[in-house]
Amino acid sequence: MKQEIKICDECESEYFADSSEMMKLCPECSHYLYGYENCNHVFSNGRCTKCYWNGVSSDYVNGLKSKRWTPISLAELKKLIESAVSKMTTKENKFWNKIAIRPIKWKEIEYGEEGNGFWVVGIFDNKVIWYNEIEEGFNVSTYSNYGEIDEYSAEQDELQWTIKKIKNAPQQGV
Ligand SMILES: [Zn+2]
Ligand SMILES: [Zn+2]
Repeated sequence: MKQEIKICDECESEYFADSSEMMKLCPECSHYLYGYENCNHVFSNGRCTKCYWNGVSSDYVNGLKSKRWTPISLAELKKLIESAVSKMTTKENKFWNKIAIRPIKWKEIEYGEEGNGFWVVGIFDNKVIWYNEIEEGFNVSTYSNYGEIDEYSAEQDELQWTIKKIKNAPQQGV
């Protein structure tokens, strides 16, 4: 049986009419724009074999994808920390134990609104170590007011790398 092929209004890719729950959008676009179930794409020769999508999203949908993230739970965060601690050297571990705090959410104005802030996991000098769940990595930022991260940053480091960086920074005499 030959499948009916349509053109998606958003990304302008061809797609199999049957594969999408929406009349004029491919499964990919209907997922990101309206929350319909996406196709579990399987690409072969530049096309999904299931929905025939060509894998190229519009700029608008790409923007949605980059902003889409879900806040990490405390339990998940603790697992990340545990795994990092197990990879630290004795020295790094000692330092970590000095600065580690019980994770707490701090405000960050630029990107932190959606997740109700970011988890801060360590404090030293005028700096905090916090988890950026958008980029999935630990970051170091300064703070002026307790409870507020001064600047956003987008490192994708595991915690033990962050600690190593701090330890190796010349101004840090810890
Ligand atoms: Zn589309
Ligand atoms: Zn597909």
